[in-house]
Amino acid sequence: MNILVCISQVPDTTTRVAVGPDGKSINSAGVKFILNPYDEFAIEEGLRLKEQHGGTVTTVTVGPDTAKDVLRTALAMGSDTAVLVKDESRSDSFVVASAIAELATDISPDVIIFGRQSIDFDSFVLPSMVAELISWPSITMVSSLSINGLDVTAERDIEGGREQVMSSLPCVVSAQKGLNEPRYPKLPDIMKAKSKPITERTASSVAPRVETLDMQLPDNRRLNRVFGDSDADLDQVVRLLHEEAKVI
Ligand SMILES: Cc1cc2nc3c(=O)[nH]c(=O)nc-3n(C[C@H](O)[C@H](O)[C@H](O)COP(=O)(O)OP(=O)(O)OC[C@H]3O[C@@H](n4cnc5c(N)ncnc54)[C@H](O)[C@@H]3O)c2cc1C
Repeated sequence: MNILVCISQVPDTTTRVAVGPDGKSINSAGVKFILNPYDEFAIEEGLRLKEQHGGTVTTVTVGPDTAKDVLRTALAMGSDTAVLVKDESRSDSFVVASAIAELATDISPDVIIFGRQSIDFDSFVLPSMVAELISWPSITMVSSLSINGLDVTAERDIEGGREQVMSSLPCVVSAQKGLNEPRYPKLPDIMKAKSKPITERTASSVAPRVETLDMQLPDNRRLNRVFGDSDADLDQVVRLLHEEAKVI
């Protein structure tokens, strides 16, 4: 079984992100990037499918040169090959989806695995977009996956319950947290991954369909008021949350 796993680099959640001088993109200077946490589940599932069925795991990211670091993490976890589709433009989801769809058409995997969402731009769209572009079925946010022959069975957590769905290979799936317990790469594998080759390619030029007009950081101003734990203070906190912050 040939498995394609799609991963992205995202700013470390502890990094202080700043908006760039154009007012509509992230200023990546000084930002530490990490593997998108949901993509760890995608890599782990790819490795488990390979252990069960044989085949290869190819990991891909679409992004700038710095995105090679997350590919090295995937190689250290056990991915066989890694592909960087070079894209310095950091364009919209459609451009990224088109690049992945083009690679999938070239290497014909049996299954493509994504994380459920990237934790920076939070679009939740790439798995479905790629599936649509290559006319494959897609099952999003799976919390359990089993493949027998061409039959794909998955479970999905839904509001107040869980549903079981079926489809067939080739197909696209996206991984929900809890799908598996991602392995930690061992130190020797981390060292070996540093010298493993990463295939670079470029994608056909595709025009973005969504344009960012403006980007702002959340308003973190504080009220700077200190309250005690008396009933009167608690009443006042509730009133302020309701009337001023308008969050309840
Ligand atoms: C309008 C717009 C403007 C943007 N501008 C910028 C910008 O200025 N700077 C910037 O850094 N980013 C920018 N991005 C984000 C960048 O293009 C993202 O990598 C891409 O959009 C995918 O993120 P998503 O939120 O759509 O992914 P989602 O659909 O939430 O991601 C789901 C899954 O897709 C996979 N995936 C996500 N991204 C990639 C990738 N790049 N390669 C391979 N697999 C991936 C992962 O498995 C992930 O878990 C922008 C996005 C949009 C929509």
